[in-house]
Amino acid sequence: MTRVYNFSAGPATLPESVLRQAQAEMLDWNGIGASIVEISHRSAEFIAVAARAEADLRKLIGIPEDYAVLFLSGGATTQQALLALNFASPGGTVDYVVTGHWGKTAIKQVRPYVKVNIAADGEPDGFTDIPPRESWQLTPGADYVHITANETIHGVEFRGDAPDVGEAPLFADFSSSIASEPIDVSKYGVIYAGAQKNLGPVGVAVVIVRRDLLKREGLPRADIFDYRSHEARDSMLNTPPTWNWYLAGLVFRWMLEEGGVEEFARRNAEKSRIVYDAIDGSGGFYRNQVLPEFRSRMNIPFFLPDEALTARFVAESKEAGLLALKGHKAVGGLRASLYNAMPVNGARALADFMRDFQKRHG
Ligand SMILES: *Cc1c(COP(=O)(O)O)cnc(C)c1O
Repeated sequence: MTRVYNFSAGPATLPESVLRQAQAEMLDWNGIGASIVEISHRSAEFIAVAARAEADLRKLIGIPEDYAVLFLSGGATTQQALLALNFASPGGTVDYVVTGHWGKTAIKQVRPYVKVNIAADGEPDGFTDIPPRESWQLTPGADYVHITANETIHGVEFRGDAPDVGEAPLFADFSSSIASEPIDVSKYGVIYAGAQKNLGPVGVAVVIVRRDLLKREGLPRADIFDYRSHEARDSMLNTPPTWNWYLAGLVFRWMLEEGGVEEFARRNAEKSRIVYDAIDGSGGFYRNQVLPEFRSRMNIPFFLPDEALTARFVAESKEAGLLALKGHKAVGGLRASLYNAMPVNGARALADFMRDFQKRHG
């Protein structure tokens, strides 16, 4: 068996040790004679797995006690819709800062429910930067302000401290950068993420929500769309995605054992520097248009001079054991995703391949 370097944007590469542990435990978890996915979510065994995963995630990210952590089925997109249902007020306005594809998706999901103000939009600049904070047109009394911490397709990432948006709580889609570096959770009202980029397998989403916000009435909604109900039942209002929750828990433990978010911040900075250096050092053969201060550490879109070379790059890199470098169809080109589970040597292998490819085809 050979495992390749997998640059998939999501579902994405997982730590090999986690996959091995899941494999070893698949038929018989902890001596119970059954798999963890074959037992009730209300069993003492699964409740212990679930509680451990939450405790480890709290430790990993530094989630204060006054924040609830929900593990929910459905992806990040589902949460995007639920944000309005749970936290908007009837007749109220919500503010969105759009810095790429997922910011636009987030708006699309809430338009049926609430008035949306686009406070800032990076699209006129082709999503190559983040509009300066002074230019944001925030609504006084907005129910919340939404940002996308890392734009997975356009490769634009908020760097440094969370933006100060005044009174309204800041909501952030962290799907592709959660647990990739230390953050101050207390600066946010809601942090949410689909697991399949940086946390585990697809099928579970993590929602970190400041508890006082759960007192908001929100908009009329079914119980199953109500975060308060999920919180009251420890995310077991209905059958949760037990396999995904368990596997995510193994990833959290792995991250803690590897040194936590400080260590991953160091590795992620190194990996992204290696790949951006290969792009910037290519004399224009490879291009990434995002302004350096907003460049994503997690997802690096880059472009070759033409389509034929791009197709060739995808085929040859795959041959060389570098998987899934084709760009998203919305932007084309190539994309390297460098989540926590991608080793530094994966980034080195990619940069070496890029230089070699340029020598042969440049
Ligand atoms: C992948 C992604 C989504 C969509 O996630 P789903 O789980 O497919 O709904 C939303 N936001 C960001 C930033 C993403 O990277």
